[in-house]
Amino acid sequence: MNATLTILGAGSALPTWQNTPACQILNLGDKSFMIDCGEGAQLTMRQMGVKVSRLYSIFISHLHGDHCFGLIGLISTFDMMNRTQPLHIYAHGDLEKTLRPLLDYHCQNLRYELVFHTINPRHREVVFSDRTVTVESIPLKHTVPACGFLFYEHHRDSEPRKRYAYVSDTMYTEKIIEQIQGVDVLFHEATFTDEWESRCQATMHSTARQAGRIARLAEAGRLIIGHYSSRENDHNVFLREALEEFPATELAVERQSYAF
Ligand SMILES: [Zn+2]
Ligand SMILES: [Zn+2]
Repeated sequence: MNATLTILGAGSALPTWQNTPACQILNLGDKSFMIDCGEGAQLTMRQMGVKVSRLYSIFISHLHGDHCFGLIGLISTFDMMNRTQPLHIYAHGDLEKTLRPLLDYHCQNLRYELVFHTINPRHREVVFSDRTVTVESIPLKHTVPACGFLFYEHHRDSEPRKRYAYVSDTMYTEKIIEQIQGVDVLFHEATFTDEWESRCQATMHSTARQAGRIARLAEAGRLIIGHYSSRENDHNVFLREALEEFPATELAVERQSYAF
């Protein structure tokens, strides 16, 4: 089955004129999954005409604002759009705790069901599974509990089964390699260029070169890098440094879709 990844936000903590914070939509089989929901996600979705009728679930990697500040607006907008299907949110338990007062105040009479699923980012576990797709958490190393997500098809017929790994905010860690080995597409955060390596370590992020190294060691089919720091405006620097480690590297470009 065809899979498509659409980048809604490829930036990091500080929004810039070029980039909004992290958000992606993965279409796998007949379903859409949102991954992270940075501020501005719903605007980009509406501008792009992204269909939300097949969007049942949102996976949040960690609770830094650039990965979840878009949720409250999106939840409210879905209600105004007369959504009736439930919306499932998979995240660290503190997300519900912090969102609940906002929901109680701003979204008292939601006409659709909002279902929170608590995940423990420290452990690798199946967080979602249905007839055709499974999602596993990928424990990461960041300043707060964080995990990536591995999506894979498991239908019975002989069609090739697509695997996509989303590795959000993390310092360089080879621990993830075994889990993401041979994925068709790997998204790996690449917040900094070599020039900012000490800043990278202090904030527990990765450089583009490190993302390339992980893709090479994991023998990924393709690597897409993003979560760019606002300190570097020229994204070609990220690309150049990652390419030295892994030739099949592409930049995450907002509003662009990647079929695989
Ligand atoms: Zn981030
Ligand atoms: Zn973070």
